[in-house]
Amino acid sequence: MTTIIDGKAIADTIKTEIATEVKNLLDKGQRAPHLAVIIAGEDGAALSYVNSIEKQCKGVGYMASVYKFPAEVKEHDILATIDFLNTDSEIDGYIIQMPLPKQVSMDKVVAHVDPKKDMDCFHPVNMGNLLLGNDCFPPATPYGVMELLRRGNVETAGKNCVVLGRSNIVGKPLAMMLLQKNANATVTVCHSRTKNLPQMCRRADILIVAIGQPEMITAEYVKENATVIDVGIHRIPDETQPKGYKVCGDVKFNEVAPRCEAITPVPGGVGSMTMACLLLNTMKSYKAQLAGSDR
Ligand code: NDP
Repeated sequence: MTTIIDGKAIADTIKTEIATEVKNLLDKGQRAPHLAVIIAGEDGAALSYVNSIEKQCKGVGYMASVYKFPAEVKEHDILATIDFLNTDSEIDGYIIQMPLPKQVSMDKVVAHVDPKKDMDCFHPVNMGNLLLGNDCFPPATPYGVMELLRRGNVETAGKNCVVLGRSNIVGKPLAMMLLQKNANATVTVCHSRTKNLPQMCRRADILIVAIGQPEMITAEYVKENATVIDVGIHRIPDETQPKGYKVCGDVKFNEVAPRCEAITPVPGGVGSMTMACLLLNTMKSYKAQLAGSDR
């Protein structure tokens, strides 16, 4: 029988652990961890993600500050905000929500980010540490996938893992994390120029899909008894649904699930874990800040 890996339940466990830790800190008279978010423009998905960050922070007892700018924001206003967040000792970390308006240079933004407060692995120093297997703040979604595998008791050591997608925020860092000695997977990364994609994917004991193509991965891509992790998340128009759309992933769940040993659903899979891991990164930075201020 196929195991449905319940990302929401695992994320809820992580958030309960964090909330308990925050309560203990507050009981000892410490301040609460504090996460900030910079967002510019009116992208619906970005705004809803940021609303959710605020809500989840409050849910575990964190402080949350959102710096919201119009789409016409000047580059120097974003850079000045980053400089402020870098120096404010009561901000433990921040993320910069994408997309940024085109007049804001990503190179300049990244150059201003302090790696010690970089909660989403934007800065090359953090990405370099991730590659080297050093301590760092991993990007939240790949971190979420790794925690989902670990807490969902999916063994990665010696397994053939195929990562489908090579973006800087998901595919590439995830491949690096699977390769590290605490995961020990044998990793193949595929992308839009990969030849014989279904055949490559069928080699996978663990297939992780992050391609941004709704329900593209059908049964022909999946080996019998594989584990499938679906990172994709889409709203597809669907008149039969009360809201006029359905939420789905990159994997055609109903067709693929019966072949699998285990699979993540969408929603209720990786998405919930992304948020939980952002909170974990913030707690880690908070502890580092406190240790720094005690010295
Ligand atoms: P990107 O669009 O940045 O990258 C997609 C990757 O998939 C690219 O490497 C691209 O190849 C590859 N790809 C695209 N089409 C195909 C195809 N037909 N065949 C093979 N490879 C293909 O996406 P992201 O990495 O940002 O996100 C991937 C998915 O994950 C999206 O659905 C996104 O919404 C979701 N997501 C979910 C999150 C969560 O919290 N659950 C967080 C972040 C993302 P190439 O490099 O050659 O162009």
